[in-house]
Amino acid sequence: MKMVRTLPCLLLLVSGFAQAAPKQPNILFIFTDDHAPHAISAYGSELIKTPNLDRIAKEGMTFERCYVTNSICAPSRAVILSGRHSFHNGQMTNGDVFDGSQVTFPKLLRKVGYETALIGKWHLKSDPTGFDRYEVLYGQGSYYNPRMKRDGKEVKRVGYTTDIITDLSLQWLKEERDPDKPFMLMSQHKAPHGRWEPALRHLGALDEVEIPEPDTLFHDYSGKTSSASQHKMGILEHLGDKRLMLQYSSQFTPEQFKVFDGYFRPRNEAFLAKRDSMSKEELTRWHYQRWIRNYLLCAKAVDENVGRILKYLDESGLAEDTVVIYSSDQGFYLGDYGWFDKRWMYELSYRMPLLVRWPGQIEPKSKNRDLTSNLDFAQTFLDLAGAQPDPKMQGVSLVPLLKGRDQKNWRQSLYYHYHEGGGHGVARHEGVKTARHKLIRFYEKDEWELYDLKEDPKELKSVYDQPEYAKIQGRMRRELDRLRKEYEVPTSVYQALK
Ligand code: CA
Repeated sequence: MKMVRTLPCLLLLVSGFAQAAPKQPNILFIFTDDHAPHAISAYGSELIKTPNLDRIAKEGMTFERCYVTNSICAPSRAVILSGRHSFHNGQMTNGDVFDGSQVTFPKLLRKVGYETALIGKWHLKSDPTGFDRYEVLYGQGSYYNPRMKRDGKEVKRVGYTTDIITDLSLQWLKEERDPDKPFMLMSQHKAPHGRWEPALRHLGALDEVEIPEPDTLFHDYSGKTSSASQHKMGILEHLGDKRLMLQYSSQFTPEQFKVFDGYFRPRNEAFLAKRDSMSKEELTRWHYQRWIRNYLLCAKAVDENVGRILKYLDESGLAEDTVVIYSSDQGFYLGDYGWFDKRWMYELSYRMPLLVRWPGQIEPKSKNRDLTSNLDFAQTFLDLAGAQPDPKMQGVSLVPLLKGRDQKNWRQSLYYHYHEGGGHGVARHEGVKTARHKLIRFYEKDEWELYDLKEDPKELKSVYDQPEYAKIQGRMRRELDRLRKEYEVPTSVYQALK
């Protein structure tokens, strides 16, 4: 009798286990704009403490070699959505309009039962597609009182944009989504993109701190081709009054203006009274301190808001079933080489932050040094959801890396192509990177650079055409050819090459 009663239960348990589909985790993608890894303490920053981002790293995985395919805002976003290089998804520059009819990962997630939402910066000009709910900034958006578009209709929000984007993200998580479905939320900040207006609560928070200068603040580009010296992103020459907060960009409420202007105006007046008598070196240093403080305070607000979201996941019980991803669309120069901005294939604007927490699946405090890319994000999210990627996608799922599996056949090189040209004086270029070497071609002038990142991690001196690097140079040029074929870089792009 006992046997008869026990056996069906056992059978039920065994068959139930065997048939159960793997649970689809929620996906929370927190994405920022221009947040360089070297402004995150989990990446060793000496400029700022980011305890909430560090928490993701402590409880999850830090990707140390994640790189963007095209280091600029809108193209990076389009690559993430489509899983395809810029020359295939059509978003080659910030000026292009994203073709929202193409296959993107949110559309494929919906097909396997996910509810999808996008809150915050979009920057792709066409209306978002593939989302059950969206509320996005118009264009770049402003730091205060942003105009937003909610499911096609304009809404005006009052407050600090980084806080507002988190408020709207939490509102969707708490009240608006269907709790019976797995979710994918893209919570995307404008910050810390220019022009860097800190939150009222942070004004003056770094006044007593002298931010360390990068040792390349006065770099002369002598080890590079002519391209670098033709930049228009100089801390001294190109920041201008608006980026230095000598003029403001947001439309403030009278109450906000009183506090914001009350902080900046007396300091601006003191600076303007002595500006003409300052040397170039003094001016560079003043520009750097004024600008980097504002940049770091904008990043500080991001970190605080990441903390608010993590706290909600804890309190709601969602944390266990939610993969949290933090990334930014590219890196950024923080006075390095005397620059602000991005675009170049040099490491500091080429590398992206990528932190991932997945309770029970990722070993806490783990670090990954494989060559990964924003090209991989779409397929990673689809893999997490148990969905098939589109055959045209060009990345690789990072899920095996997240699970700590050794990937012996992982890629050994990455292809890069900056298409925009002109912006901040950066010429179009393409290149290839391996773990140790990097080859860059500024093809409009046929200028080549080669770096040995082990010997020269700051990329101060190109070794292109140095006899001792002849073999490596040949290998890297062949690898560039191979990658062009692998990614089917179209003839029209090739024809632009001289
Ligand atoms: Ca950006």
